[in-house]
Amino acid sequence: MLDEAGYEKLRLDMVARQIKGRGINDPKTLAALSVVPRHLFVPERYRPESYEDHPLPIGFGQTISQPYMVALMTAALALKGSEKVLEVGTGSGYQAALIAFIGCSVVSIERNPDLARKARLNLASAGYGEAVTVIEGDGTLGLPAKAPFDAIIVTAGAPKISEELKAELRGDGGVLVMPVGGLGLQELLVVTRQGRDFHTQNLGSCRFVPLVGRDGW
Ligand code: SAH
Repeated sequence: MLDEAGYEKLRLDMVARQIKGRGINDPKTLAALSVVPRHLFVPERYRPESYEDHPLPIGFGQTISQPYMVALMTAALALKGSEKVLEVGTGSGYQAALIAFIGCSVVSIERNPDLARKARLNLASAGYGEAVTVIEGDGTLGLPAKAPFDAIIVTAGAPKISEELKAELRGDGGVLVMPVGGLGLQELLVVTRQGRDFHTQNLGSCRFVPLVGRDGW
């Protein structure tokens, strides 16, 4: 079993090789991945491989994404550190913890109650229990009570861009990052809102577990 210093070494190595080494330079994203203890967000038996270059199972057929994918999505949000952010698909809570580290307040929706409970425990043990609120429910319905959001991140693959979520973006520059496409393969889309205009950028192909819900699969 590694100690904290051992995990820190793996973590810094991960950032250097997998994240910086592949061209992600957003300083806040790099700082967050360098500090947030990813090993505390995976089941105990996977801890030794928690900084490796692939996704890992977190139970119930779900996964914590590959570090590079998490970094790519975090950087795409272009956060300053004071934003109100909605996440759909809490999973382990790791992505939410990174956004909280950057200084944002995060509300994260998870449809599986067991995962939601585990994510709350993971977030508390890593020190992000206060900054992240985990809600159980169908995130494809959005969260009208707390809208608008400066940024929205969906961490499961959807058949289409959610109109609900677009409508909950802040009107002047709100950003939505979301994998959209088929069940097996999606495109990572970044949608930026200016009033009634939505500009979409495609960051390339990706593979996520399905978003299951009214506006999902
Ligand atoms: N962001 C996570 C990884 C998420 S995996 C992390 O950092 O670990 C995708 C998650 O989305 C799964 O936990 C799955 O249960 C959840 N999910 C799928 N459809 C959903 C929906 N409609 N609303 C909320 N959560 C959903």
